[in-house]
Amino acid sequence: MLSVEEALARVLAAIPVVGSETVGLPAAHGRVLAEPIAAGRDLPPWDNSSMDGYAVRAGDTAGASADRPVRLRVLGEVPAGAVAPTPAGPGEAYRILTGAPMPAGADAVVPQEEVHRDGASLVLRRPVERGTFVRPRGEDIRAGEPVLAPGAVLGPAAVGVLAALGRPLVRVYQRPRVAILSTGDELVDLDAVPGPGQIPNSNTYTLAAQVREAGGIPLNLGIARDVREELEERFRWGLTADILVSSAGVSVGDRDLVREAMAKLGAELDFWKVSMRPGKPLTFGRLSGRPVFGLPGNPVSSMVTFELFVRPALLKMGGREALFRPRIRARALEAIDNPGPRRGYLRVRLSEDGGGIGARLTGVQGSGVLRSMLLADGLAVIPPDTRVEPGEVVEVILLHSDMSATGRRP
Ligand code: AMP
Ligand code: MG
Repeated sequence: MLSVEEALARVLAAIPVVGSETVGLPAAHGRVLAEPIAAGRDLPPWDNSSMDGYAVRAGDTAGASADRPVRLRVLGEVPAGAVAPTPAGPGEAYRILTGAPMPAGADAVVPQEEVHRDGASLVLRRPVERGTFVRPRGEDIRAGEPVLAPGAVLGPAAVGVLAALGRPLVRVYQRPRVAILSTGDELVDLDAVPGPGQIPNSNTYTLAAQVREAGGIPLNLGIARDVREELEERFRWGLTADILVSSAGVSVGDRDLVREAMAKLGAELDFWKVSMRPGKPLTFGRLSGRPVFGLPGNPVSSMVTFELFVRPALLKMGGREALFRPRIRARALEAIDNPGPRRGYLRVRLSEDGGGIGARLTGVQGSGVLRSMLLADGLAVIPPDTRVEPGEVVEVILLHSDMSATGRRP
């Protein structure tokens, strides 16, 4: 049996990276950056006021006090979007609004609440320090400074920074196209009511959703019956994709039809028994230069093997720098048992637990019990032959990062 780490290392070593394309900035949200971004300009582009008030020369105010107030001549007003027509010379000031550029010569802002206005004059009873309420040019980002590296996922802040740097077009990695094939004589699709002995195909849809969440584009190859020629035909359709993922038909009882069909098409295949529960059997290889995965058929096994192997592979293929989910440590709120020689990936729900985070199993953990995934915030990683007692700490792979799901559920 292979460890999960060994199997993953072999998978990742065989994954190529897709090409890139240029998209408009709004469409770049959620995409993976394919070019380094250095600032072409200072942000902010000039010193500006962070207050509504008066732009002054700090030196003019040095001796100001209640007994000896300083009078400055107000030359005019600089609202945001305007520029002072002339510099502020000695003894001169401008009324200035938040975000407006500092007039040449001025180096501090006095908030309007702190001054007395007397006609065209400004009366100051206190000195101000240089730089007060001034946002200096380049305070946020300096021209030439590296800002984002290839492989970064463009979140809202990144999109905002690119807009601020005046980048209407961005080079991003293409989204990997993932062909998904479900296999099995017992499966019926959404357009039919299951008859006796038949079960609805759910794997196609969970896998497509997982692909989308990993930034890929799912292509549905439908259901192949357990007939080698039919499997071959549908795999051939999948060659328009960058990567192929099938589910079921890879355990020993299935006469290896999925692997036979892949092999017949010329795939170089590995078949691994991976030390994990759920999910043991995993087929991986290359078909016409494309990575191909044969996942187990049980709905939870299919999801968990996708999570542990296909997701990082897809992220790598899509140019992502960070390939792995965060892992946290949580306190077991009940006993978590993993008998047997394989490492367990048990589905847990997380909640606030006296300053830390607590983990509780999501009910029955059978590999066909999709509800165990439905309720899960994470996968608790439990070593072989281990019983975790309540209060002990377990490692949990977070399946989503939304804290609103934590602790608020009944
Ligand atoms: P297999 O690996 O072909 O023996 O399938 C294992 C189990 O997973 C069987 O109970 C199948 O009915 C179930 N299964 C296989 N494919 C799917 C699918 N696409 N959707 C839901 N369940 C499936
Ligand atoms: Mg089957």
